Amino acid sequence: MTPPEVHTNHVDVEELKNRFASFLQEQRYRNTSERMRILERIAELPGHFTADQLYVYMHTHGDKVSRATIYSTLELLTQCNLVIRHRFEGDSMKYELTSRLPNHDHLFCVDCGRMVEFCAPQLQELVRYVARQYALSPVRHSLQIFARCPNFVECPHRP
Ligand SMILES: [Zn+2]
Ligand SMILES: [Zn+2]
Repeated sequence: MTPPEVHTNHVDVEELKNRFASFLQEQRYRNTSERMRILERIAELPGHFTADQLYVYMHTHGDKVSRATIYSTLELLTQCNLVIRHRFEGDSMKYELTSRLPNHDHLFCVDCGRMVEFCAPQLQELVRYVARQYALSPVRHSLQIFARCPNFVECPHRP
């Protein structure tokens, strides 16, 4: 049985910018062109990224933003749920655009480091079930599964 493919959503940058703008206004943060630019650039990235990778990406595209601005903007984007933060084992903090994929989780091979993104509706149900037991309603969850390819020597994913 082949696992279901996870399809990347179409990302509507204008809609994201509107959501970010109303968040900034509600929370009384300044809406700066730099902050909006950072969000636009994030929407161009294909998947997970670190703050440093975003910094390098922006500078190679001529956006002269400071690291401090990138960090503080990522913090704000995380607060308003446009960006989700992952702390993958043995790795630096990774970010991704929440709307890039439907709610998904991550599977890692501990030998070759291959990462798979998957969506499992049963898992969403389980999350709702567990939260309900404590009279809570889930906002988000994050699950990392650590696994192993069948044959380490012949693994085609080995770097
Ligand atoms: Zn592997
Ligand atoms: Zn992901």
